[in-house]
Amino acid sequence: MASITVENLRKEYDAGSIVAVDDLSLEIPDGEFVTVVGPSGCGKTTTLRMLAGLERATDGKIYIGDEDVTDIHAKNRDVAMVFQNYALYPHKTVFENMEFGLRMSTDMGPDERRERVRDAAEMMGIEELLSDKPDELSGGQKQRVALGRAIVREPEVFLFDEPLSNLDAKLRTTMRTEIQRLQNQFGVTSIYVTHDQEEAMTMGDRIVILNDGKLQQTGAPKEVYENPVNEFVGGFIGSPSMNFLEVEATASGGGIDLTGVNGNFQYHLSSEYVQGLDQDISGSRFTLGIRPENVYPTNAASNKSFTTTVEVIEPVGSDNYLHLDVGEDFIARVDADVEPEDGDSIELSFDEHHIHLFSPDTGVDVL
Ligand code: ATP
Repeated sequence: MASITVENLRKEYDAGSIVAVDDLSLEIPDGEFVTVVGPSGCGKTTTLRMLAGLERATDGKIYIGDEDVTDIHAKNRDVAMVFQNYALYPHKTVFENMEFGLRMSTDMGPDERRERVRDAAEMMGIEELLSDKPDELSGGQKQRVALGRAIVREPEVFLFDEPLSNLDAKLRTTMRTEIQRLQNQFGVTSIYVTHDQEEAMTMGDRIVILNDGKLQQTGAPKEVYENPVNEFVGGFIGSPSMNFLEVEATASGGGIDLTGVNGNFQYHLSSEYVQGLDQDISGSRFTLGIRPENVYPTNAASNKSFTTTVEVIEPVGSDNYLHLDVGEDFIARVDADVEPEDGDSIELSFDEHHIHLFSPDTGVDVL
């Protein structure tokens, strides 16, 4: 087992015209399970491939434990990578696929190799499949074999590149638990890349969010969810997405009125709230962020509620999503027994402590 340290990592393609990873620094302690998430093209796979030694960094350093592995060949790094497309050898049996890495990278004898493969196969529940070829297996079974092949080597680091993306939703949930169970059992430092923010949130001890090759934020899932550092993170993490409204702040009775720039929206921040801020926000424009689950219907109109029209009601079983007419996309996630008709007028409110105010220029959370 080992920690991983990444210092100012950079990867350019096409003579520098594409910057896939830009000045990325991370410290991953021994035994941690980190998920890396971000939209397509943000540099997740490139980062993982540099850690595995499959891609050469343009600049920066990678350490596994105390060892600088930046220029060390993939086969000499003690890491095992699991790929989305399984990367099994089609002409080899499951046993041979699992044994291959041991043959190549260790001087272990055949008896010990067989024992290791059998143990890993038992752990993954695939003992019955050892003499099958990959094309005789289902997607889920193939991924179990790929995981078995990774654990058989007992590496210092596991790297997962969207390993569940080709599986159906139900199997994905089962395999998530399986991977977490393995990681708990072995305690191996693991980096798991996914574009699915829900997967990243549920699996990671810590989540790393990338956009455009750059680190946006890293922290425990709950911390990132509750305190996004910028508008990108606020919008990317959470489903349905955080609502954003352009507002103008004006001083009012010791507090601040936030007025919608594009629609009929008004909300009053109390004087206590405003006094707790470390800057005077009156006179400025912001992007207000509020999560759909924090918006609730109320019967008592006040300066902390707003009246709007329900455009569409979207039932999702346990909750209803109300799509509202406030000049920009805006959703309230309410209990399933709140069932207004499309076109109904509704009074809604939220707690001022759930508000985020982002700078419209930089996207940074200013509070
Ligand atoms: P996805 O979720 O779609 O797999 P990603 O976050 O893993 O995306 P990367 O595959 O790391 O993103 O790609 C980051 C950027 O680098 C993208 O702009 C991509 O087009 C570019 N890129 C990746 N590999 C190469 C390559 N071999 N040659 C040129 N550009 C590349």
